[in-house]
Amino acid sequence: MDISVVIPLYNEDESIGELFGWIKRVMEAHGFSYEVIFVNDGSTDRSWQVIEQLHAAEPDIVHGIKFRRNYGKSPALYCGFEQARGNVVITMDADLQDSPDEIPALYRMITDEGYDLVSGYKQKRKDPLSKTIPTKLFNATARLVSGIHNLHDFNCGLKAYRSDVVKHIEVYGEMHRYIPYLAKNAGFDKIGEKAVHHQARKFGKSKFMGLNRFVNGYLDLLSLWFLDSFGLKPMHVFGFIGTIMFMVGLLSALLVGANKLYALHAGQPYTLVTDSPYFYLALTTMILGTQLFVAGFLGELISRNSSLRNNYQIEKEI
Ligand code: UDP
Ligand code: MG
Repeated sequence: MDISVVIPLYNEDESIGELFGWIKRVMEAHGFSYEVIFVNDGSTDRSWQVIEQLHAAEPDIVHGIKFRRNYGKSPALYCGFEQARGNVVITMDADLQDSPDEIPALYRMITDEGYDLVSGYKQKRKDPLSKTIPTKLFNATARLVSGIHNLHDFNCGLKAYRSDVVKHIEVYGEMHRYIPYLAKNAGFDKIGEKAVHHQARKFGKSKFMGLNRFVNGYLDLLSLWFLDSFGLKPMHVFGFIGTIMFMVGLLSALLVGANKLYALHAGQPYTLVTDSPYFYLALTTMILGTQLFVAGFLGELISRNSSLRNNYQIEKEI
């Protein structure tokens, strides 16, 4: 099978029928063998009934996964990825903002140009300013932290993947914003971008509004960066900083003590060690250093107990 199209959706019953018709036209015009996997993320409208109707009409092409409740876009993608059988996997939003006409070109970038992942880039984005401005900031940070400098739009719903990629990444929580980074961490580094058309939402309204998505988005980025950099060796970070802090604290404390002993010895006026502010600074540094060291040690114990601890990405064995 050439292509699996994975579509996560939450209350999009008005769009799904039209979207499938469009995908079908494009696929047939280009002679692709394909499947469409709708992942119904706990919709409360008629979305599932529409998917059932589509499946009844095209049982080999249309598949559906129905969550019992709303888990979010990332879990929906994860389950869609597990089921996908095509050599290339295309994800798109269900709201008709992404155009199926882009599929053939995206497919070719994977098969002919050798990309692992191609992300759409909504160059002329048809969304309100309240979404587009924060997105610019978000993408700049994501580029910086992930080291993937050639992507303008990490979170575009329209993406194409080599099948290997989706089988080896774990999209959880709200990590769908960072799939290119997940792919890079898993060792797929040929990541490209294609400018795509973007339409205004035709039916319903956006499912991602409100402020907490920025906070969560940045926290997620931080977690990913941390997992990527130190996830397998927490002691190397915490232990290192902790040891240095402890040593600095200890030396400073000794210095404060030596200072007093010297004054005592030389018959100069002296004060109690505990009267010096430096003593307290040194003490705090030592305590913090010890705590960091313990944090590193605990991190090490936890990561060595994880069932994924020896989960390395092996590309080939002969
Ligand atoms: N979506 C989902 N689960 C959710 C929220 C959204 O599956 O909890 C789907 C939604 O139905 C759509 C896609 O994710 O197909 C992108 O959502 P939306 O269009 O609302 O995001 P926007 O384009 O406004 O960023
Ligand atoms: Mg949308």
